[in-house]
Amino acid sequence: MKCIRVNASRQYNIEIQHGALAIAGEETLKATHAIGKTLIVSDENVFPLYGETVAESLRATGYGVHTFVFKGGEDTKSIKTYEAIIAALSENRFTRSDVLVALGGGIVGDVGGFAAATYQRGIKLVQLPTTLLADVDSSVGGKTAVNLPTGKNQLGCFYQPSLVLCDTDALNTLPEAEYKNGCGEIIKYAVLAGGELFSMIENADIRTQYADVIARCVTIKRDIVGEDEFDTGRRRLLNLGHTFGHAIEKCSGYSIPHGAAVGIGLAMMCRAAHKRGYCASDVPEKVEKLLAKYGMSDAADFTAQELYNAALSDKKIAGGSVSLVIPEKIGCCHVLTVSCGDMLGWLKDGGAR
Ligand code: MG
Repeated sequence: MKCIRVNASRQYNIEIQHGALAIAGEETLKATHAIGKTLIVSDENVFPLYGETVAESLRATGYGVHTFVFKGGEDTKSIKTYEAIIAALSENRFTRSDVLVALGGGIVGDVGGFAAATYQRGIKLVQLPTTLLADVDSSVGGKTAVNLPTGKNQLGCFYQPSLVLCDTDALNTLPEAEYKNGCGEIIKYAVLAGGELFSMIENADIRTQYADVIARCVTIKRDIVGEDEFDTGRRRLLNLGHTFGHAIEKCSGYSIPHGAAVGIGLAMMCRAAHKRGYCASDVPEKVEKLLAKYGMSDAADFTAQELYNAALSDKKIAGGSVSLVIPEKIGCCHVLTVSCGDMLGWLKDGGAR
């Protein structure tokens, strides 16, 4: 088992192992030191595959098991789903010594995490991510949220879990599109950190080295989040590819998934940074080549103006300025604050029409 210790406002382990879901009960007990009730929150895709394995392991350890299964998908990451989870906790008389177990991808983790963070001012949370994207990104760092009609992640808070348990076997059932979704964030981490992670995923397929790649990505994220848990400084580096990526997602009506949009946003940012003299031409070239290796595109068919309008509603844009994460070389990025108006030029330099 690979184990990464996180020292945030709560200390917890990220454990990576094949077959980990079958020992979810004992690992939950070790992490929470409490036997009580559990609510497994999951979606209709994941629960039929792994729900019973997790429930059985929890029961065998002595936990009471309740379940909350919802449809899943971006439009169910809503106040309505959140309210229904809170109702399930309340009706089953959960207390602060009980545990919410989020079993699934990023959406399950985000809405389940937000319910755990707020029910009775916070109950214990265990994250069991089952997608590559959730493994490397959304289950680490304590961000929880639901969407509002006005935008993604508009209502949420920082809340650290007691445990994150990644079962690499769960990735065997991942649809191709979900695999690519994870690859987008992994390529982002490779550009941020460079070094061995970049050459690992350049030289061999991510699929053949899940545990190593996940461990490296969460270590990078842990180190950045550790310096800036509440996202006021260094953590903004994790937004590499995301400012343009979010705009691309939004322009596509969310038909381009998050990781794919981040990949495109990353390539655009590398091209723009090169054009403006921040980095050498090998940076966009290497990134485009890596995206192609994983069957991902490096451009989207939206105009700079369309992307600009979509980006203006991003929550990261404050006071007429926007923080862009600029690659100088593979393994070295920095945050540059530009005025909102300048972003149109950056998008054009990135290759938008
Ligand atoms: Mg992301």
